[in-house]
Amino acid sequence: MVSDRAKIVRRHHVHLLLPQPALGEAQSALFESAVRPAGWVADPSEPSSLSLQWRRRQDTLRLQTLGWFPLLVTVGPLGRATTAHRDAAARLTAAVAGAGGRSFTDRQLADYLPQARLRWQRALTERRRLTQAERLLEARQCSRCLAWSEPSVTHCTGCRHRFTAIDDAERETAVGQASKVIDTAATVLAELARGVLLDRIDSPGTDRPVAGMVTHG
Ligand SMILES: [Zn+2]
Repeated sequence: MVSDRAKIVRRHHVHLLLPQPALGEAQSALFESAVRPAGWVADPSEPSSLSLQWRRRQDTLRLQTLGWFPLLVTVGPLGRATTAHRDAAARLTAAVAGAGGRSFTDRQLADYLPQARLRWQRALTERRRLTQAERLLEARQCSRCLAWSEPSVTHCTGCRHRFTAIDDAERETAVGQASKVIDTAATVLAELARGVLLDRIDSPGTDRPVAGMVTHG
C-alpha cells in the first residue's frame, strides 16, 4: 500500500524525453497544446529558454529542461500538488509519446543524466565544427596575410594580393573539406537529437535509440 501511494504521488512529476534538439517554439507548442484544453494558461512572467510555466486557478505547473539532444524535461507542480497536476502530467506524457518520445522513471532518469551531459558536450563540439566550416564557405582566407575576403573577389581585402591559380585550387580543396565537415556535423547533431546512442554515433552503421539502453526501473 505504501508503495502504491508513493507511485500515485510521483505521477504528479514526470520526466519526458522528446527526440528533438532542445526547447524551441515547436516543442513549447507541443507541450502547450497538451495542457491548454485542461485549462492551463501559459505564464509568461518568467520567460526562459530552459523552462515553461502554466497556471490554473491556484495551481502552478512547471516544466524544466534537464538535457538537450534529445530534449529532456521534468514537469511537476510548483507548490502544492493536486489532481490537476496529475492530469497535466498524463496529458504531457501522452503528447510526448505521440511525438515519438517517452517517459523516464526517477531511476531511469538518474541512470541517464550522465549521458545527457556527454551528449550536450558532444553537440557543442559539433556545432563549433559546423560554424567554423560554414565560415570557410562564406569567406576565403589569404595564404599570405591570413585576412578573410569575400569568396568572389580576385584580390585579398587585407594585402591586395591577387589570388593565383594555386590559391584557387587550395580554396577548392578547403571548400570540399568544409562541406564534408558540415555534412558530418549535421548528421551527428540530427542523430544526437533523435536519441541515437553515443557509441553508435562514433561507430556509424547501427541506429539504436537511446531509450533502448534504459532497461530497468
Ligand atoms: Zn592577404
